[in-house]
Amino acid sequence: MLMQTRTEAPPADPVARRRTFAIISHPDAGKTTLTEKLLLFGGAIQLAGEVKAKRNRVSTRSDWMGIEKERGISVVTSVMTFEYGDCVFNLLDTPGHEDFSEDTYRTLTAVDSAVMVIDAAKGIEARTRKLFEVCRLRDIPIVTFVNKLDRESRDPFDILDEIEKTLALDAAPVTWPIGSGRNFSGTYELGMNRVRRLDAADDGGTVPVSGPEDPLFDELLTENGAADAWREEVELAQGGLKAFDLDAFREGHLTPVFFGSALRNFGVRDLIDGLAKVAPAPRGQDADKRRVEPSEARMTGFVFKIQANMDPNHRDRIAFMRVCSGKLNRGMKARLVRTGKPISLSAPQFFFAQDRAIADEAYAGDVVGIPNHGTLRIGDTLTEGEEIVFRGVPSFAPEILRRIKLTDAMKAKKLKEALQQMGEEGVVQVFVPYDGSQAIVGVVGALQLDVLKERLQAEYGLPVDYEMSRFTVCRWVTSDSETDLDKFIDSHNSAMARDLDGAPVFMATTAFSLRYEEERYPSVSFTDVKDYQ
Ligand code: GDP
Repeated sequence: MLMQTRTEAPPADPVARRRTFAIISHPDAGKTTLTEKLLLFGGAIQLAGEVKAKRNRVSTRSDWMGIEKERGISVVTSVMTFEYGDCVFNLLDTPGHEDFSEDTYRTLTAVDSAVMVIDAAKGIEARTRKLFEVCRLRDIPIVTFVNKLDRESRDPFDILDEIEKTLALDAAPVTWPIGSGRNFSGTYELGMNRVRRLDAADDGGTVPVSGPEDPLFDELLTENGAADAWREEVELAQGGLKAFDLDAFREGHLTPVFFGSALRNFGVRDLIDGLAKVAPAPRGQDADKRRVEPSEARMTGFVFKIQANMDPNHRDRIAFMRVCSGKLNRGMKARLVRTGKPISLSAPQFFFAQDRAIADEAYAGDVVGIPNHGTLRIGDTLTEGEEIVFRGVPSFAPEILRRIKLTDAMKAKKLKEALQQMGEEGVVQVFVPYDGSQAIVGVVGALQLDVLKERLQAEYGLPVDYEMSRFTVCRWVTSDSETDLDKFIDSHNSAMARDLDGAPVFMATTAFSLRYEEERYPSVSFTDVKDYQ
């Protein structure tokens, strides 16, 4: 309710005007619908100012759509860049299905804030809660959008209370709904004496009111006693609930809450204005040797997602890189720190709603797609020469392990190559046993296995099946003592494998046997999360 206190002119500094965010929600809460409406406000693809993009230089919209249809997955939506007001927004899409949660966690390493969408009838659901916890671990501030007010909804106090109790997060309503379901007629901006009417076209302007006592509310809430009940509610909300506090929000203790209906394109403007005003500009990122600030002159960035490119005949892929500092210029040479080799950024791309274009320049907070033929991997750091590696694009110990069964033994070499690529893209994790037996793939969600199978067939002509593996759990093993680690590895050779980076992984048949080994080898650490590299 006090969001209007920051009235200073928006900074012209390109970094300060960037907002890089993701939407987190439980399936069906309305993420897709809200995304579409946000893009409408942004004019989706009208970029100006320092984001210079040459249109139509690469694939046209129809190319993208064709592939999307063919694949049945959304290939265009990994990131959507749009400009609204004084801000450039980078909206990073996260897969809806929980089987792809690994992908989601990686994407959340590249955002500065998140919008949490809640279904007004259902409140906080399981997946919202889980994703919220990931945001909390990374200190990502959350803006809440309570959606579907045009349907029968729970009492707003009830929803705010649930946010506070289940997420331990203070909830500060910015707007307050006027009725719900069939009676939903708009929102009142708390403390601002402004009403946004549902019947105004296209989420248009607000109308001033004298306060909650204004006769307009009698017009809007016509049911007997409804207007007065609503006035009491608002009084309670204004008096009893938390006021918006920028510091508490930025520190992740408080969430501003907006009410609306994405389907009716209502309340979305308030949300996007709120993001422009209070969501943080790109923040510093931790690298192994130091923290990198967005204001630094030299370009740095990290790859958090790889997407196979459209044409299966050319194995080019798009690496999505968050720029962390400096300015990325088209044509510049960057250093790929993992290999120490230079990489030429000749065709970095911006992604829009259904289109993409060459990016001539990009700033900290921006996400650009870098086409490559397998040079870039998830977790890669690019710099202008400095030897640093960004931390925090994690890999999780898979929960399902399967041995790959290849029907045509002649194709073993091709399979090896294909698995390497799929591993680098983060489709699955690949473990190569020390004993030379067939590779084991590990996933967090079973659907990843379906995707792998389909892609091996479609892109490499490799028909594969999966076999149960005798192993059910795996852990990365490390130790301060190289001798102790070697000793452990030597005596467990048949249960050891290497991951993509060559790091040793111990595979156990049961959780019990894992615990047993942990106790027997106290100087060896068995970890279930590994930072890339
Ligand atoms: P997602 O799974 O979170 O991406 O959810 P979608 O955006 O696909 O929405 C799920 C369903 O809810 C769809 O049928 C939408 O039309 C519907 N929906 C989304 N927003 C609203 C809303 O504000 N009001 C109503 N009544 N339905 C909505």
